[in-house]
Amino acid sequence: MVEQVRNFIGGTWRDALSGETFVSYNPATESELAHAPRSSVSDVEQAVEAARAAYPGWRLTPAPRRGEILYRVAHILTERKDQLARLMTQEMGKILAETRGDVQEAIDMAYYMGGEGRRLLGYTAPVEMPNKFGMALRDSVGIVGLITPWNFPVAVPSWKMLPALVAGNAVIFKPSEDTPATSAAFVKVFEDAGLPPGVLNLVTGAGEAGAALVNHPDVRIISFTGSTDTGIKVYTQAASLGKKVTLEMGGKNAIIVLDDANLDLAVEAITWSAYGTTGQRCTATSRLIVQSGIKPRLVEALVAKARTLSVGDGLLEATHVGPLVNAKALEKVERYVEIGRQEGAKLMIGGQRPSSERGYFYTPTLFTEVRRDMRIAREEIFGPVLSLIEVASLDEAIAVNNEVRYGLSSSIFTENINAAFRAIRDLTTGIVYINHGTTGAEIQFPFGGTRGTGNGMREAGLVGLDSFTEWKSVYVDYSGRLQRAQIDTEAVLRQTNS
Ligand code: ADP
Repeated sequence: MVEQVRNFIGGTWRDALSGETFVSYNPATESELAHAPRSSVSDVEQAVEAARAAYPGWRLTPAPRRGEILYRVAHILTERKDQLARLMTQEMGKILAETRGDVQEAIDMAYYMGGEGRRLLGYTAPVEMPNKFGMALRDSVGIVGLITPWNFPVAVPSWKMLPALVAGNAVIFKPSEDTPATSAAFVKVFEDAGLPPGVLNLVTGAGEAGAALVNHPDVRIISFTGSTDTGIKVYTQAASLGKKVTLEMGGKNAIIVLDDANLDLAVEAITWSAYGTTGQRCTATSRLIVQSGIKPRLVEALVAKARTLSVGDGLLEATHVGPLVNAKALEKVERYVEIGRQEGAKLMIGGQRPSSERGYFYTPTLFTEVRRDMRIAREEIFGPVLSLIEVASLDEAIAVNNEVRYGLSSSIFTENINAAFRAIRDLTTGIVYINHGTTGAEIQFPFGGTRGTGNGMREAGLVGLDSFTEWKSVYVDYSGRLQRAQIDTEAVLRQTNS
């Protein structure tokens, strides 16, 4: 049955004002999954109005009460975990184990940020004058616009929505046009948890709706996750309007394997980081930087392991690798595999679609003899394609890791503690793993990347509130007189003793 999705604005579910819709497809079957509102500027304006009306009340709701609603969100998500995971698998393709993990991340984040309802810590510090007190407080900002991708349709919005809400902001959520049904089911959880109307609004649609959010003068913050091209457009436009922006964009993550690595462990980790989620994670491994001594054994083991992976519908428990999200993503992967061939890389396995009548499937692919200047070694492919670059030393491996335009995640396999600590010191990515693949971030640590991956902001962890709060420094002078800046210590002492 094709689902009818609606926008959620001011606590009611509604169609786009134009009545227009778009279709989301199941990438494993290519059948229609949902029809959703194709929102435009006027729908975004309605959502902003609703958010503006709801903001003053939400801002003054005591933060511990806001946190309790987030705990209820966590409970309901836990109850609906399987239902949401199944819907997500049908809408964007990744296998059930992964979609369950996606929902679990939102559950974790709801508990974590629910706890912030009783923290939202500021600080005090000594001040320069007698009879004076100083403190720094986090303040909400107002209306926050969230623009998100399809690959983590619950987890990624949760990293943004939950801190924004606990901090007292009103939110407008514009999810990817590939996942409107999952997004609406996620928003329904907040409605059922008792979030007041207008505090969280859902506006589905394509880039036009996202751009309307970026352009609206009352949306003070934009938090974006998606492709680099769109992210830079959003950043440029938002900057010209003086807005605060958080960006998470591309990755070209590498695993380094040194000669002394635990081979079996490395093979297992590389396989899941490169081919899990069909390579469609921003932290997925797409480069393998391998020291010469271990290379022959590693390639042999990886090819053998890749042969055991079953590609198919993510709803089937036996499937390891689901489809790519849509025809465009599949074409991009096919184009890059062709580029790799033409550049002279050696195809060891994969490089083709499996024989299925329907669905955007692609077999796990490994290229060796990849030179570091090749396009497949530098550009984001976002599919199950791994490029192996051979190096002579740890120094060369680190240089290769650090030379690409992105800086999200990196990893090293070694049994040598000195090499591991040198890697921790010198790998210039936002996330570094030792003896684990590049994927699998935990929400209590900052998530984000250096260089072209982001704009210096981080999500999650202790700093996850920074995107959605402003600092307010408060000075209370209880001296009863106008105290002016004093640099004369003697005078301050005289005043204090008088
Ligand atoms: P992906 O390739 O991962 O779908 P995109 O960057 O195209 O990544 O999309 C990420 C999000 O950005 C989606 O919600 C999409 O609708 C939105 N988007 C696309 N174009 C624009 C734009 N010009 N302004 C704002 N948002 C946009």
